[in-house]
Amino acid sequence: MDKPRNLQLRLLSYGVIAYMMLAFAWWSILLFTKNRDAYEAKRDKMRLMMIAREEIPPTDEAFYSTPAFQELKNQYASQEYMILGEASVFVLSLAIGVWLINRGYHREMLAALQQRNFLLSITHELKSPIASIRLVLETFQRRELPRDKAEHLTKNALLETERLNKLVNDLLLSAKLESAYQLHKVPVNIAQVVEDILEQMEAKYPNASFTFNKQTAVEDTLGDVAGLDSVILNLLENAVKYSGAAPDIEARISQHGNTIRLEIADQGIGIDESEKAKIFEKFYRIGSEDTRKTKGTGLGLYIVSQIVKAHKGKIAVLDNDPQGTVFRIEIPVAREEKKHPKNKGQ
Ligand code: ADP
Repeated sequence: MDKPRNLQLRLLSYGVIAYMMLAFAWWSILLFTKNRDAYEAKRDKMRLMMIAREEIPPTDEAFYSTPAFQELKNQYASQEYMILGEASVFVLSLAIGVWLINRGYHREMLAALQQRNFLLSITHELKSPIASIRLVLETFQRRELPRDKAEHLTKNALLETERLNKLVNDLLLSAKLESAYQLHKVPVNIAQVVEDILEQMEAKYPNASFTFNKQTAVEDTLGDVAGLDSVILNLLENAVKYSGAAPDIEARISQHGNTIRLEIADQGIGIDESEKAKIFEKFYRIGSEDTRKTKGTGLGLYIVSQIVKAHKGKIAVLDNDPQGTVFRIEIPVAREEKKHPKNKGQ
């Protein structure tokens, strides 16, 4: 929905609500006064009739102490409470209604903004590798190139296809995570997986420094290898991406009792406290697509958190010292159930 129309609708609903409140206040006051008038009329009539029937002497004290007057007074008081109670329920329901409308509106606006950011970034992410690959192919088509130049261009084009591949895989994986993601669990040593991926990263990013710190022995655990690969790769790629020219990244792994703890620490730009909870939402990227310099879709950390959750684990984001970010994952060790043969003697 476009913004001015949205604002108009919002103003209209606030106008209607304000009108309802005023009308309600007016009706309440009217009800109070009518109720009081009715009570006073009944009271006076009752008093006159009692005096006429000579049931009481014509004094205030005598009338006020009669049970009939006490009952009338109690009835009036309970009617007043009832009006007050109903008014409170009405005001409360209206306030909850306004709060719900506001919350719904903000959620819708946020979803629309994220959708827009996602569309902008995905269009860019799809178009730029396609354009580069096309340029390389056109160059090859037009002229014969020296071997080293041809190799350089081919390497670039391959990197671009890799980017495209990752993007498509991320999109598919995030769609699967929402519906039919089946973990294919096999015994896996997460420390070994991290070490292997770090080797790939070192080759891919020669400017970056990667340190692997295996602080304790780490048991094998039942896990989904493709999923865990994707978790570690995404965190390391982010650590590089949000670190500037010379990334300094440390991967720490340890086991405490039944929990494997993996930390990916960088010395990069860091994450604001107010953003920490939001970065795991689907399509969420810090800043706006018009001003942001890094490439991405906002899917990476969503995928990471969903896969960690599917392994019954937890993910946390902390500040690094003196600067940068630490992503901490804790996954409980899952062991294969030992099969006890039923008929030992056979
Ligand atoms: P993407 O990297 O495609 O934008 P992610 O879901 O991986 O999406 O990350 C979401 C956001 O979290 C990023 O846009 C970035 O602003 C922030 N972020 C993720 N990792 C880091 C990091 N290591 N350092 C600083 N910011 C980060």
